[in-house]
Amino acid sequence: MVNGQLTGLLALLRENRVRVTVPRRAILESLVELGPHVTAEELAGHVQARYPEVHGSTVYRTLDRLTVLGVVEHVHLGHGRAVFHVADAGHQHLHCDGCGVVVEAPDELFSDLVRAVEERYGFELGLDHFALGGRCRLCRSAG
Ligand SMILES: [Zn+2]
Ligand SMILES: [Zn+2]
Ligand SMILES: [Zn+2]
Repeated sequence: MVNGQLTGLLALLRENRVRVTVPRRAILESLVELGPHVTAEELAGHVQARYPEVHGSTVYRTLDRLTVLGVVEHVHLGHGRAVFHVADAGHQHLHCDGCGVVVEAPDELFSDLVRAVEERYGFELGLDHFALGGRCRLCRSAG
């Protein structure tokens, strides 16, 4: 699964005529291995443990580049901490203010809201850049 996902991402780069450099490969590999919603610092640490030749500044620059290419996306949690995940068909994020857990929710859950806001205000909601805050089931049952 992990290898399949990485192979798919590298193929996506090549399809877009983007060279698969060591930093690009290292970041995508780390993102797949660590799983979604990791900070740039966590990614940089993981990359540098395996690819010491890839400098921290290169990791940040490469993350920006992969974001522009649409291969990687980030979302801001709570007070603004950004976490990264591989771009996919689209999901929204629910972030618990109590324990910090991130729950992924499908886009269509919010389609009525998006439509209503557009009809009433002519405003196109962009829900994917910031997580929706609240309290998760576990924290609520803990009182
Ligand atoms: Zn996500
Ligand atoms: Zn919680
Ligand atoms: Zn942002």
